[in-house]
Amino acid sequence: MDVKKLEEAEEEASNSKPLLNTSTSTSHSNKPTLLLNFIACMSLITAVTFAILFFSLSPSSSSSSTTTARPLKKLPHPVVLLISSDGFRFGYQFKTPTPNIHRLINNGTEALTGLIPVFPTLTFPNHYSIVTGLYPPHHGIINNFFFDPITGEKFTMASHESKWWLGQPLWETVANNGKTAATYFWPGSEVIKGLWTCPLRFCKHYDGSVPFEDRVDTVLEYFDLPLDEIPVFMTLYFEDPDHQGHQVGPDDDEITQAVSRIDGVIGRLINGLEKRGVFEDVTIIMVGDHGMVGTCDQKLVFLDDLAPWVDITPNWVHSYTPLLAIWPPSNHSAADVVVKINEGLSSGRVENGNKLRVFLKEDLPQRLHYADSNRIPPIIGLVQEGYKVEQSRTGKKECGGAHGYDNAFFSMRTIFIGHGPQFARGRKIPSFQNVEIYNLITSILNVKGAPNNGSDSFPQSVLLPYA
Ligand SMILES: [Zn+2]
Repeated sequence: MDVKKLEEAEEEASNSKPLLNTSTSTSHSNKPTLLLNFIACMSLITAVTFAILFFSLSPSSSSSSTTTARPLKKLPHPVVLLISSDGFRFGYQFKTPTPNIHRLINNGTEALTGLIPVFPTLTFPNHYSIVTGLYPPHHGIINNFFFDPITGEKFTMASHESKWWLGQPLWETVANNGKTAATYFWPGSEVIKGLWTCPLRFCKHYDGSVPFEDRVDTVLEYFDLPLDEIPVFMTLYFEDPDHQGHQVGPDDDEITQAVSRIDGVIGRLINGLEKRGVFEDVTIIMVGDHGMVGTCDQKLVFLDDLAPWVDITPNWVHSYTPLLAIWPPSNHSAADVVVKINEGLSSGRVENGNKLRVFLKEDLPQRLHYADSNRIPPIIGLVQEGYKVEQSRTGKKECGGAHGYDNAFFSMRTIFIGHGPQFARGRKIPSFQNVEIYNLITSILNVKGAPNNGSDSFPQSVLLPYA
């Protein structure tokens, strides 16, 4: 990730001339020219005013503290608190006043146009990519539910056997390095791996009914422990605003309220850390797992409509939407099925057929990193933003929200905010994929991480070095 390039591009953009200029005025008669000149003049004044405002409001880079990390004042070692707000679509932070989230943004480092999730943009694959630095085929959690192709066993979001969860999550890395981690919910955190034993004291078993405030208060209590017993890495998870997003879509008042509530619990956390004198010492990394897009009943593709080309029965379909995953029985060639489905979809005779395309997984665009696992069914469909795939017409009328689409869609992006001693204040960095976060955190904690899909140079491009 070249942060310099973005900064240069931004500078260029702010230096560029106003769009309305007088270059075409010579061939016109006098009056329009005068008018054009007047408009150009006004727009220039406006542009200059904005530029002055922009530069006076944006944090200056004049102080030397922006080039080196700020030393710890109270804690004997760096502590990273990784927070996830599920389904926090990039842009939600502007829906309503979010003074606490903005306190982190303004005094920390933010991905200017959001954090890019991995494909499929689903909760379990993404949360586990964030903590392992691996793409789903490599960490094994290729969907929220899937089958083991050899044993036929089913993985669900309640499966805690280590055989499903590949790679090395951060809590295990921390434990393997002889340090203490604490998880207040995170997919995979209850799985016993390496030296991580999910100890009762520091590993909460998932219970969605625990109020968010209680979760925050428990994490705050960890900072009341003797200094050398404070876990160096902690996770904190909130189900909102994903929960509301599914029911009402991203543009409903319920989302605005959920975002406001998340901001409130972040405020509670900041206050608690301040009271303990450790707010500036703790590294807070706030992310989401994916975004959200509105879905409605007019935007549907029905598999039954493909019957003239190929009969796709429900037992072939491992997941419908937005990730269409099809596993035909062994007496059918997957390649043939793909050809027939795409023939049907492009025939013009299937409703919304042009909104779906299917691939053999090995033929998917490489950027999706979604082929290299025998857990991934052989046929994968990519559906257009906001569309859904269903077996048959039910006449059910509903509008809501979904995620799981191609991670190139902007609506699937979420937030990244880093606040702490090694994050420059008020800095904006370009969007990046969440597999980079693993190396970022091992770098802050100064622990040896496991091999992963993040780049080695990412941490130094984002973090301030210690003097
Ligand atoms: Zn969701």
